[in-house]
Amino acid sequence: MWNVCVSRSRTSSKLHSESQQLNPKANQQMNQQNSERAGSMLLISGPSGCGKSTICKQLLLDDDVVFSVSATTRAPRPGEIDGQHYHFLSPEEFRAKISTGDFIEHAEVHGNMYGTLKSPMEEAIADGKVYLVEIDVQGALQLKALEVEGIYVFVAPPDFNVLRERLSGRGTETPEVLERRLKKAEDEYRERERYDHIVVNDSLDRAVAEIRSIAGLPAEASRG
Ligand code: ADP
Ligand code: 5GP
Repeated sequence: MWNVCVSRSRTSSKLHSESQQLNPKANQQMNQQNSERAGSMLLISGPSGCGKSTICKQLLLDDDVVFSVSATTRAPRPGEIDGQHYHFLSPEEFRAKISTGDFIEHAEVHGNMYGTLKSPMEEAIADGKVYLVEIDVQGALQLKALEVEGIYVFVAPPDFNVLRERLSGRGTETPEVLERRLKKAEDEYRERERYDHIVVNDSLDRAVAEIRSIAGLPAEASRG
């Protein structure tokens, strides 16, 4: 399995050239945005450590980009703000929202419920915004299976050695969790062709510029 990673590291320029558009329908959405500034969902996904959060932070510097805040029943971690990092709900509140059909999708992860809310997405898109959904590969494929309309972007690391370096450099995982995430990353990487676009996160600025272009956003961010 790790042989795959090593050979990938030797073909990082090949991976770079793999930045590509896979779904012509997504292009239609982009062109429509360019002419009419229609809103859309922009989904950013990929293996842990590929740079999803870092890229999303950059995209969110633009006033026309709105972040999708999920709901969860897990307790807030120190520093997490209700409504900003998550909408923190009690299990009863979460169940009530399921029964009133408030979620596009929801799932149980590590014993807690998580869900993507429908109405903030609908409102942002109606308002002509780019609605940014940062989600793991499993969640992205769920949204795809539900045929939720949007631009699906797979963020790929330049190679797996770089992914290892970035994950360990982040310092948020124990060595055991790091190995598990890297192993999972190989499986997730195989799903990349199911997305509309694959963007290699080599240089952060380049990857962000490419995603802005994919989303039909101008080269310069719009700031109030
Ligand atoms: P994810 O949200 O996909 O798990 P992060 O955004 O946390 O990944 O990125 C993992 C680590 O890699 C972070 O320490 C981040 O600063 C770093 N990183 C992200 N993109 C780049 C890049 N293009 N070049 C160098 N380091 C990067
Ligand atoms: P954490 O509790 O560490 O913030 O997130 C745990 C897991 O929940 C992560 O894998 C994350 O991708 C997932 N998650 C966060 N929000 C949602 C959501 O809205 N829907 C689904 N299905 N999973 C989510």
